[in-house]
Amino acid sequence: MRFATHDGPGIRTVVFFKGCPLSCWWCHNPEGQSFLPDRLYFTERCRHCLECGAICPEHAISEIEGVVHTSDACTLCGTCTTVCMAEARQIAGQRYTVEELIAEVEKDVVFFDESGGGVTLSGGEPLSQPVFVTLFLAACRERGIFTTLETCGFAQPDVFQQVALQADLVLFDLKFVDPAKHRQYTGVSSDLILRNLEQLVARQRPLTVRIPVIPGINDSTEDIGGFVEYLSRLRPPAIELLPYHRIGADKYRRLGLPYKLPHTPQPAAADLAPFRDALTEAGLNVALLTPGV
Ligand code: SF4
Ligand code: SF4
Repeated sequence: MRFATHDGPGIRTVVFFKGCPLSCWWCHNPEGQSFLPDRLYFTERCRHCLECGAICPEHAISEIEGVVHTSDACTLCGTCTTVCMAEARQIAGQRYTVEELIAEVEKDVVFFDESGGGVTLSGGEPLSQPVFVTLFLAACRERGIFTTLETCGFAQPDVFQQVALQADLVLFDLKFVDPAKHRQYTGVSSDLILRNLEQLVARQRPLTVRIPVIPGINDSTEDIGGFVEYLSRLRPPAIELLPYHRIGADKYRRLGLPYKLPHTPQPAAADLAPFRDALTEAGLNVALLTPGV
């Protein structure tokens, strides 16, 4: 994604890595969860011409009672995307070598230089592809490109430190400090995540802790108290509160996946003021990001 402005300083090109060990209920990049390519179908764009069905080598596409279906015979070959003039079919995820990816982001160097921006590695979870990410970060460094690593922190500590230390800035997503809630809403334990965060702070690396604030899930008085207590001890250099948004909800439909928070409202900035104020009163450096970012 080019011309991003909320995932690190300046104008940024964001590279989304596929595959994530977490499955957060509010994930707004569900196409990043699987390590394999995903098939996206935009119902509202489809003209029902069935050009896709005619070319599909697996005969996986058919129309039944006015609805275009794709069966499990689909091998994600992507052929159908080449004939759909309505762009109603897309494949999310493609393979790159480090050289191919660095060539792609180098096209934007002029914007990085003018704005103090750079490349952000996001996902999915970049740390799930540690060898590639290490090589890519090194290639960026060789070219003087500023790198930001956005991570959920779930990786073996030696892998985490080895990769994270290569990035110029780490945006560390912290969802819960309550271990039971972390497991319930993300599917994994928080042990590794907290340990990696604590080591990163101890190394005094450039770091921002990002808390996605999800109404009714991690913003109760008790939740806020837990964050304040934990972060007051940890004292990271910067914290950002990221209000829940529903931008990813449509993606679930395109992927044919259920969305677990169909009725959760998007909070206004004012709704997060008590959370921000509690952290500020503890002497922490807190920013509130714009809802919908
Ligand atoms: S080619 Fe595109 S517009 Fe035509 S039926 Fe297939 S998905 Fe729909
Ligand atoms: S991705 Fe390939 S196999 Fe799957 S529906 Fe499209 S053409 Fe058929």
